[in-house]
Amino acid sequence: MNHEFECIIVGSGGAGLYSALETSAGAKTAVLSKLHPVRSHTGAAQGGISAALGNCEPDEPEWHAFDTVKGGDYLVDQKAAMILAQDAVKAVYDLENRGLPFSRTPDGKIDQRRFGGHTREFGKGPVHRACYAADRTGHMILQTLYQQCIKNKVSFFDEFHVIDVILEGNTCKGVVAIELATGVIHTFSSKAVLFATGGFGRIFKVTSNAFANTGDGPAVLARKGIPLQDMEFFQFHPTGIKGLGILITEAVRGEGGILRNREGQAFMETYAPTLLDLAPRDMVSRAIMTEIQGGRGMRGDKKIDDYVNLDATHLGKEVLLSKLPDITDFCKTYLGVDPADNPIPVLPTAHYAMGGIPTDLDGRVLADEKGTPVEGLYAAGECACVSVHGANRLGTNSLLDLVVFGRRAGIHISNYVKTNGAHVLPATAADYARAWVDRLTDGKSGPHGPELSEQMQSVMMEKVGVYRNATQMSEAVKTMEALVKSYEDVRVQDRGKPFNTDLLETIELKNMLDLALVTAVSALARQESRGAHSREDFPDRDDDNWLKHTLAFLDKDRVRLDFKRVDTSIWDPKPRTY
Ligand SMILES: Cc1cc2nc3c(=O)[nH]c(=O)nc-3n(C[C@H](O)[C@H](O)[C@H](O)COP(=O)(O)OP(=O)(O)OC[C@H]3O[C@@H](n4cnc5c(N)ncnc54)[C@H](O)[C@@H]3O)c2cc1C
Repeated sequence: MNHEFECIIVGSGGAGLYSALETSAGAKTAVLSKLHPVRSHTGAAQGGISAALGNCEPDEPEWHAFDTVKGGDYLVDQKAAMILAQDAVKAVYDLENRGLPFSRTPDGKIDQRRFGGHTREFGKGPVHRACYAADRTGHMILQTLYQQCIKNKVSFFDEFHVIDVILEGNTCKGVVAIELATGVIHTFSSKAVLFATGGFGRIFKVTSNAFANTGDGPAVLARKGIPLQDMEFFQFHPTGIKGLGILITEAVRGEGGILRNREGQAFMETYAPTLLDLAPRDMVSRAIMTEIQGGRGMRGDKKIDDYVNLDATHLGKEVLLSKLPDITDFCKTYLGVDPADNPIPVLPTAHYAMGGIPTDLDGRVLADEKGTPVEGLYAAGECACVSVHGANRLGTNSLLDLVVFGRRAGIHISNYVKTNGAHVLPATAADYARAWVDRLTDGKSGPHGPELSEQMQSVMMEKVGVYRNATQMSEAVKTMEALVKSYEDVRVQDRGKPFNTDLLETIELKNMLDLALVTAVSALARQESRGAHSREDFPDRDDDNWLKHTLAFLDKDRVRLDFKRVDTSIWDPKPRTY
């Protein structure tokens, strides 16, 4: 079955929906999502969205841009960071005007809280910059945008799982998707396609990410020859619930929560004397692991590693219930602990992909290190790399990235479709997708997906985690290469058509394996420590040799690396101290 639109958006998180709002004003737009839109991971975002509104104390977009660049350990493209910070103010007021119920100051302005790495006057001290709706900011953004898209008559294809993109030469012509309810394969022809498929934390064993975060967009494009940028940089958030990885938002520390070791010491004093617990995430995650490795962690039980405590007891029940109600609830449900009475046991959890599909400032996907755009192909949100997060993203900058660059991509698409004709899809458009599904369901015996998945997640967690070294990463690369090969023989057990989640999970597995391989190869190649990529064998940042973006090209089970310059046109790279 074929469908024709002027613009197809794959993904209905914050990035996809914001782009759809813009494109639907002038172009016939469809949003395809493998989940019901409001189940997208954006809805799980807790802490806030940053913007230098200056509602609680003086603040400037320029300080915000600088913090973003420094937080990203100078691998950030600086003009992009400036746009992010400058457009932030308008973006947040725009969300407010569209109906987002932000938390308020006593005089009725949007309230703001502190978050890691966000400072006043280029690093003098923490600043109140994160706008929030209690600890349900993402939920509110998603609901607001979804309502507005319905109002704009965007066509939604819910539970349509995209498995291929149609690229001819340097032009994107559409996508191929399976409908979950029927198992029917559909083609969608379109003048422009935007990928907004979110992150891929599921390649790691312990993650804050939803089950659906399997990196489908980047993997689909990588298999068609599009490079993936800076894939070695994966953020571990310092405070996941120990053993489970469920996120305890940084807003707990923003509101005054303190990390403590076994002796009760507020150990961030040692690592970041100025910002303390509000240092950037890469530094806090390393500090936790260093405390544990030094024998100063809390003792876990036999099954679970040692951990540290996040102490919010001094904040009081009232603050916890009004500003962090969901966190309070999580702690009670998953740990049987009330954070007003007891500290929360935490460990770093795989959280956010800094890398992804390379784009320019208007969301156009770039095919090479020279920056050649692919006609009609766009990406935005966590699956994209524009690059505003560099080697380490600051908290609350992702929700902002979705809105700012989702909007810019949407505007560019609106103009692009006006001057370009419709595409006719080749008769072979769905062949690749059909052949893949046919192989997985042909009834032959083969290894089962979950076994491969379990191995991938454990090895990535153990060997490409917070601290890395060549020996372990080489082993990880070998394992991923072998798993990518084994996938050729994988078969599903459920061969039915309707609601075949076994089939779709096995397709997602291929996406994760490809991305895990690219991540491990990119990480092994980068012989320095920068942001979230911390190597025991190369402990220093090396600007002479490594101040450059990685571009990884996937060819079956092989990865070729190329590099691209970083835009450092505003601030000279300096060592980071906090
Ligand atoms: C627990 C948690 C808390 C967070 N808190 C914050 C915070 O407070 N502030 C902040 O700035 N950031 C936060 N982040 C990060 C931020 O929420 C995410 O980076 C962001 O929401 C990603 O948005 P997105 O639009 O790119 O993708 P998502 O919201 O993940 O949406 C992806 C969409 O793509 C669709 N999709 C995926 N694959 C396919 C496919 N093959 N076919 C069809 N559709 C597909 C999905 O159905 C979904 O609609 C948090 C993240 C987590 C996990």
